[in-house]
Amino acid sequence: MGVIVTKFGGSSLADAGQFQKVKNILLADERRRFVVPSAPGKREEDDEKVTDMLYACHDRAALGENVEAVFDRLRGRFLGISQALGLSLDMNAELDKVFFALQNGQTRDFAASRGEFLSGMMLANYLGWEFIDAAEVICFDNQGVFDQERTQELLSRRLAGVERAVIPGFYGSLPNGKVKTFSRGGSDISGAIVARAAGAELYENWTDVPGFLMADPRIVKRPKEISVITYRELRELAYMGATVLHDEAIFPVRAAGIPINIRNTNDPSAPGTMILRADESHVRGAITAIAGRKGFTAIAIEKNMMNAELGFGRRVLGALEECGVSFEHLPTGIDTMTVLCADANLSGKIEQVIEKIRRSCKPDHIEVISGLSLIATVGRGMVRYPGTASRLFAALADAGINIRMIDQGSSEINIITAVESADFERAVNAIYAAFTK
Ligand code: ASP
Repeated sequence: MGVIVTKFGGSSLADAGQFQKVKNILLADERRRFVVPSAPGKREEDDEKVTDMLYACHDRAALGENVEAVFDRLRGRFLGISQALGLSLDMNAELDKVFFALQNGQTRDFAASRGEFLSGMMLANYLGWEFIDAAEVICFDNQGVFDQERTQELLSRRLAGVERAVIPGFYGSLPNGKVKTFSRGGSDISGAIVARAAGAELYENWTDVPGFLMADPRIVKRPKEISVITYRELRELAYMGATVLHDEAIFPVRAAGIPINIRNTNDPSAPGTMILRADESHVRGAITAIAGRKGFTAIAIEKNMMNAELGFGRRVLGALEECGVSFEHLPTGIDTMTVLCADANLSGKIEQVIEKIRRSCKPDHIEVISGLSLIATVGRGMVRYPGTASRLFAALADAGINIRMIDQGSSEINIITAVESADFERAVNAIYAAFTK
């Protein structure tokens, strides 16, 4: 029998009712043997996340401020769940230990990790499954970088003799034994690591949305759900800010060829989105999703005979590097080169960048175009299939939208267009409509 590793996000464990749903899901399929929980998240929109409360407690304690008020709220969250589920754990004693650690100079990472630790203890108790502390099996190196090799060895050996277990997400430990967390949302990564170590046939990532949508629902009204997406498409979308899954979560499972299934805890009968290495069943010419971001600036550089000038590109990029600015895209013409940068990266440095380019490249003309947005139209169905670009550009032309830049990477699964930010929402809707009618 194959193994399924399941990861449940914070909203899936936000209260006792959600814990019950999680249990039902786990018991519905015997292959779901290993579960990676997050810390309890928000119960409703303006609620607090346990992880945020823990950070707040730590930061206050570090300043010598009183943490009781926040900690009492935190205690209330955990006790509320534990009592409602009738757990046989002494949660008060566990919480006292955390309180003591907070008062006694424990690290910020340790403080944050207690959300997952306690959530995992409760879930293990509720299910009657073994609890495996992530600090014993998820390893970081001395630089604080995740140590895949050591973890794989340790964790796969540990899981081999275990029937069913709960392994809290978000943290592991450094070689000196100190707790270290991943970046925010990192339980997704933990789940992927456990899936790989368990040799799972599937990594289920349970959250509070139906899966991936073809477009941002704040921009497009009721966009269609995506049933299948490839890892590569997902990378392209993640770059554009699609945030259902942590960016780094796909690497451990992708390398092992384990598919990820995004599922909805609040609607367990829905199939969700399947993330696969490759998929041949797609409709040719179809697109998978559209994503975009505002906040870009283009620096357009013109110089006669640029194409013949040795080292021109290096000098332009050197100027950016010296100013500590990274670039996002670099479309070129015969005598023109445009450097597209994120405003967040460029802000406060633009004058300096222009000055450096002027000095090192002696361009004929240099222009700064701000207020741009990028839109990525992503689809494995467009590879070696004519017509996608024409449909896309026709949609924008019909909507009267001017395209400021076009970039199609050699992967051929993504066409990026830059439009003025005032046109952004209209452009996304026009592209969506063109490919879904
Ligand atoms: N609890 C952590 C956070 O809020 C990690 C996670 O939920 O994935 O970022």
